[in-house]
Amino acid sequence: MERERELVAIRWVVAGILIGIVGGLLLNRAGGAESPLFEMITLGGDLFIRLLRMVIVPLVAASLITAAAGLDTRYLGRLGGVTLIYYTATTVLAAALGLTIVNFIDPGVGAVLENVQAPQEIYERQPPTFADLLRNLIPANPIDALARADMLQVISFSLIVGVALNLMGDRGQAVKQFVGEVLELSMVIVRWVLYLLPAGVALLLMRAIGQAGFEVFAPLAKYMGAVLGGLAIHGLVVLPLLVWLLGGVPPWRFLRGIASPMITALSTSSSAATLPVTMRTVERELQVPGYISRFCIPIGATVNMDGTALYEAVAALFIAQAYGVSLSLSEQVVVLLTATLAAIGAAGIPSAGLFTMVIVLQAVNLPLEGIGLILAVDRVLDMFRTMVNVEGDAGGAVILTTLVGRK
Ligand code: ASP
Repeated sequence: MERERELVAIRWVVAGILIGIVGGLLLNRAGGAESPLFEMITLGGDLFIRLLRMVIVPLVAASLITAAAGLDTRYLGRLGGVTLIYYTATTVLAAALGLTIVNFIDPGVGAVLENVQAPQEIYERQPPTFADLLRNLIPANPIDALARADMLQVISFSLIVGVALNLMGDRGQAVKQFVGEVLELSMVIVRWVLYLLPAGVALLLMRAIGQAGFEVFAPLAKYMGAVLGGLAIHGLVVLPLLVWLLGGVPPWRFLRGIASPMITALSTSSSAATLPVTMRTVERELQVPGYISRFCIPIGATVNMDGTALYEAVAALFIAQAYGVSLSLSEQVVVLLTATLAAIGAAGIPSAGLFTMVIVLQAVNLPLEGIGLILAVDRVLDMFRTMVNVEGDAGGAVILTTLVGRK
């Protein structure tokens, strides 16, 4: 009965997509962002995203504390280790796929370099050093980290609290129960927000398509083709195959099962905003046990970004080609590693990957202005790379269930 209801909801979501696309094209013809309707559509879309974001911090904190407090510490250690290895391996694989494709297609050869400029923030933002990254993992003030929704800090703080509660045994019972109830409460709100998913998707797509300047796509068609082609191969072949071989779930069932989070990712361009939907779906549609999804989905939404890694690799080589720079094999290995780092470091919010690209470009001495070349189409590519990022998290949850074993 429940399952029947979820499937019906998918039909509504598909209707939302169609309305979003048709409405967006009409809006585009009616003046796009200048049209009087645009403001209302933007407001509606923003309200939907805010509702999703509203539950992220309590959901992530409560999920990770519950997972770390409830699991046997040796099991938790194994789960943590395998999760990190799996996330890193698939991210490197995605970046390698991006590099292979871009070397075949050569999308940047002959690109026009007139008046290229990157956004001002790109120059102002210096990439963090390794020491900074490490330092930033530990919040000096956890309340501040929760308030700023600094997800990496929320994750480390929650894991520390969870393990401490775990070791306290029965004495921590009241806190464990409280956190468990916060988790349930967050999921109730997620269920409500999900009822709004079809409308949210329609509004967000209408806005994105309504304000898109399609004329900028033509000169970048080859570059877009390389990114989208790579994402399609990773999302429709590589990940489903891995889930099938390592997780035992056939591709069609996997892809159909994760339709809701994929569509939410497409319309919000944010893994973080999609996180509540991803978590609910892997538990209900793919039968991932709660103690695994509560652990690996919040971490995955923050650090596991296959789509972003692939895009960073393609974009860096595209920029190199546009400037007539040919990168040697060892320089391409540097791109592979820094694209992986840049993907891990990108927050799960729109356009985050565009900014962390600085890490890759600086590592191989490419001009930061190059980011200006790809700016015009970034919004669209962000939608699709976020979809693959979220798919990687959902697939990871299935695979980790078999790799680590149920408890
Ligand atoms: N928007 C992406 C995400 O939330 C990150 C990126 O910009 O690549 O997963």
